[in-house]
Amino acid sequence: LGCRALMKTTKSQTLFEAAQQLIPGGVNSPVRAFRSVGGQPRFIVRAKGAYLYDADGNRYIDYVLSWGPMILGHAPRPVVVALTRAAKQGTSYGAPTELEVRLARMIHDALPSMEKVRLVSSGTEAVMSAIRVARAFTKRDGVLKFEGCYHGHSDYLLAKAGSGLATLGIPECPGVPSDFTKHTLTVPYNDLRTAAQVIRQQAKQLACVIVEPIAGNMGVVPPAPDFLPALRELTRAHDILLIFDEVISGFRVQYGGAQTLYGIKPDLTILGKIIGGGLPVGAYGGRADIMNLIAPAGPVYQAGTLSGNPLAVTAGIATLTELKTRGVYSKLEKQAAALAAQLGEAAKKAGVELYQTRVGSMMGAFFTRGPVVDWATAKQSDTARYAKFFHAMLERGVYLAPSQFEAAFISTAHTPADITKTVKAAQSALRSL
Ligand code: PMP
Repeated sequence: LGCRALMKTTKSQTLFEAAQQLIPGGVNSPVRAFRSVGGQPRFIVRAKGAYLYDADGNRYIDYVLSWGPMILGHAPRPVVVALTRAAKQGTSYGAPTELEVRLARMIHDALPSMEKVRLVSSGTEAVMSAIRVARAFTKRDGVLKFEGCYHGHSDYLLAKAGSGLATLGIPECPGVPSDFTKHTLTVPYNDLRTAAQVIRQQAKQLACVIVEPIAGNMGVVPPAPDFLPALRELTRAHDILLIFDEVISGFRVQYGGAQTLYGIKPDLTILGKIIGGGLPVGAYGGRADIMNLIAPAGPVYQAGTLSGNPLAVTAGIATLTELKTRGVYSKLEKQAAALAAQLGEAAKKAGVELYQTRVGSMMGAFFTRGPVVDWATAKQSDTARYAKFFHAMLERGVYLAPSQFEAAFISTAHTPADITKTVKAAQSALRSL
């Protein structure tokens, strides 16, 4: 690290010790721990714009952005103002509100395939519920998913999943009865031939094919040009429902998500993260004839005490309203492109093999020659090298995901000066490898 003094982290260390006494692994979600990169997580006390501040007073340029939601940066003024006002009106009623209608309309307008929308409190819950209704609608049980995609932590979706399971090397999760996973089939991402074969063979058993239209949980892996169109055709031909899990890509790569970007209409869509503006939210929706099966319209039961929570919905509406402003996505694209290009140059100069992927402000950088097109190729990455890079960046005030197999995000709060600072940090970090 040259002549740089190491950051002070004593307060984070003390807090982590206390946390480990009381919370499994010291964290409330495994991806927050620095398990695969080593070292100890920084405890955050506040965040503003593009920056995180930890308990020891260190500041970081944040590229995790709470794993995606904070597309306007942290504590954006319009969201904070709306939330402050909303909190005074009460924080939960357990009865319907106009706010929910407004958010549902905004979602429907942005993603017209979502004719009807149900709000829930997490992405996990949304996926679970969408699959339940898909099974009820088709009267079949099978689910086809793709290796390295993550769809939340419900029992039958943990098989060969991305995100923390990929990071920690958990191919199968203890505590999940094999009876629960026997209906889950997994094929490699972007592998059309295998997907087509399985879909044709299992056509009578499959309720749905669920996919991240842009994979973001094994690092960022964009779909091959024919992948999503072919999935659409194949599923339609066999009356199998196509579910897009846009928890990350929704309102991230474009206002209307990946389905708008690629012009593909799924039967059902999952949203989360951005539509809650940093508060706990998930949503699922799609064709009215399917969604009308959900209680109380139909017999498929799904409920939630805090579903459509007025604070979460307020934050979502305020966030989407900002995102509708002209030029937001072109600015994100421009900044992300600049960062990616300069990072690529820095790697080349340092003689480090780096395979970069990107769709808008969803960015990946794998320590491998590539190409990375699926989990098998993502896994080729030199994770020890990533760990070194991660810590070198952290020391230089840049907060990346503590795993090779996660996405990096940019917010509208990141300035060209932040990007320049990040590139400088990367140049020196890459040289240090
Ligand atoms: N689907 C995808 C594509 C995700 O990225 C995530 C979370 N990162 C989920 C589902 C689960 O969402 P949650 O963490 O809100 O349960």
